[in-house]
Amino acid sequence: MEGLKYRRILLKLSGEALAGPQEYGIDPKAADDIAQRIREVREMGVDVAIVIGAGNLWRGKVGLEAGMDRATADYMGMLATVMNALALMDALERLGVVVRVQSAIEMHAVAEPYIRRRAIRHLEKGRVVIFGGGTGNPYFSTDTAAALRAMEINADVLIKATKVDGVYDSDPKRNPNAIKFDRLTYIETLNRRLEVMDSTAISLCMENKLPILVLNLWDPDALRLSLLGEIRGTLVHA
Ligand code: UDP
Repeated sequence: MEGLKYRRILLKLSGEALAGPQEYGIDPKAADDIAQRIREVREMGVDVAIVIGAGNLWRGKVGLEAGMDRATADYMGMLATVMNALALMDALERLGVVVRVQSAIEMHAVAEPYIRRRAIRHLEKGRVVIFGGGTGNPYFSTDTAAALRAMEINADVLIKATKVDGVYDSDPKRNPNAIKFDRLTYIETLNRRLEVMDSTAISLCMENKLPILVLNLWDPDALRLSLLGEIRGTLVHA
């Protein structure tokens, strides 16, 4: 399609995107809404890869705080991302979108193993690729996995989906005078400790000059218009 600002995107979804109103577990209805947004941009001709988190099911930190071994708790989190990946795959397939799930932790019965060149081939064929299993390593987050995969597949932008319409100087839900940023540099984001993504992920994007776009995926127009160049959210860049 003509006029696309970004032709290949890596979309980072937090696990809570699938949680629905109860803020826990997987709500197939929530998955349907997201799948709809993704189908729209796929139909615009955009290559779409997705990294999904698992905060709706399990976070390593919870186990750590309860005395668990950090690595074990983190592996549980990585496994949980694969459940979310399958839920999203299912929602997309019900809308007729062709999807492949690749997991950083091998589990042949449910997902392909992560193979970079194969993932790129899927994208070239117009398939949506969902990366489960994070980076495959404990002590990392799915934000970092998103930055890493975005680089590996040569994405034009990393899109961080949130429930607010960009990055603010304070929490807009608590502070009615919070100011939204249209643009930020990586350094400003790191120095002001703005909650865009964790610092490992931002540093990785900074080193490789990968722009990050923070937007509200629940706004039916935000993603589509942003991909056409009418940025609806906050752009983090060099
Ligand atoms: N995780 C990990 N390595 C990774 C990605 C994720 O160990 O490369 C674990 C970590 O315990 C994390 C959990 O998986 O808490 C779920 O991911 P995350 O917290 O990033 O999910 P989100 O906040 O995006 O829903």
